[in-house]
Amino acid sequence: MKRWMFVFPHPDDESFACGGTLAKCTAEGQETCLICITSGCKGRSGPYQIDCREQLARHRERELASAAAILGVTRLELYRYPDGALDALDPGELSNRLAGAIVEWKPKVVVTFPPDGVTGHPDHIAVCKAVTAAVERAERELALEEYPRLYYVSIPHYYDHCPDKGPLAALPITGKVDISSYRGKKGDALRAHRSQIYSVNRAYPGVMEGDDGVIGCYEYYTLVRSEGQPVRSKPLSARIPLIEL
Ligand SMILES: [Zn+2]
Repeated sequence: MKRWMFVFPHPDDESFACGGTLAKCTAEGQETCLICITSGCKGRSGPYQIDCREQLARHRERELASAAAILGVTRLELYRYPDGALDALDPGELSNRLAGAIVEWKPKVVVTFPPDGVTGHPDHIAVCKAVTAAVERAERELALEEYPRLYYVSIPHYYDHCPDKGPLAALPITGKVDISSYRGKKGDALRAHRSQIYSVNRAYPGVMEGDDGVIGCYEYYTLVRSEGQPVRSKPLSARIPLIEL
């Protein structure tokens, strides 16, 4: 059995970026840990009448728990750092905590956002930095055979559908996971984030109404670190290879 750790800043990032991969891991008997760094209190509230940020945070935590249950996440952790302010945290604090989680749980794979954050959101970029530093820090306490591989997720679908961009160029994709049997699960997980109807409609039009046609058959990744060494990826000229779970 393999363990996968997914680290994202907001409730819903996991479903947008990796919902199909999470569901596939579950179906293949692998364990998944999802760490959500904030509770998304600065987000929209969609159709709900929500009066304060605290109430929105609790509501989004419940939506996240529903999505995680749909995707079969083994372990869901909420860090409850302030939404929209991760780039102002002491840089060592989050990465130290994440390094501790990696050393304790020993995932074989760690997945997070790339340096452009996909959307350019400062929290996404801050989490990329913290997770990358955490993997390197964890290696100091792990045996070589315990070192996790680090992947950044890429969402070419998002780049196609949404105009916002990060400050850096997207990294070359090095592999893809076939999620064709898990598109419905990804759709169900996105629908669990009902308060985020605006974002879901933007990136995945039709899904909130139950039409999963826009959800693609693959989720895309860039391998950036393996066996304690950075992996320098080159743009692929031919087909993108499949990542077998
Ligand atoms: Zn986000």
